[in-house]
Amino acid sequence: MCRKGSKLYSIIARKCPHCHEGEFLVSRNPYDLTRAGDLRPSCSVCHRKFEPEPGFYYGGMYASYALAVAQSVTVYVAVTVLAPASAQSTRLFWVLGALLLTTPVLYAWSKALWANLFIGYKGVQRQPGEDSKWLA
Ligand SMILES: [Zn+2]
Repeated sequence: MCRKGSKLYSIIARKCPHCHEGEFLVSRNPYDLTRAGDLRPSCSVCHRKFEPEPGFYYGGMYASYALAVAQSVTVYVAVTVLAPASAQSTRLFWVLGALLLTTPVLYAWSKALWANLFIGYKGVQRQPGEDSKWLA
């Protein structure tokens, strides 16, 4: 399920959505805040572009929002189940704390998720008739 060739692998490992081998982001460390979310212009392995048009990754905000909501609901339910007598302020503390700690990772995953919604796995070799908007 999470092997090279699956979208889940490309998203979690933040690999090139075209070939799943090259790096997708400039920095492997999502907590490197000076370069957080910075994309490479193209893949170092298959040489395909990551951005077909300016503003392509604005849609990644929706993916980021969805990931943050899913995480917040999960943390809230987990705290409620594990500590049923906890106050709402305690649950809110855990939700906000988890969001604060994981925001850089969610941001990196959201860009990879957005790219994988529109880019399918093609392998390293170029295929005949490939869409030229992805070619560097
Ligand atoms: Zn590639």
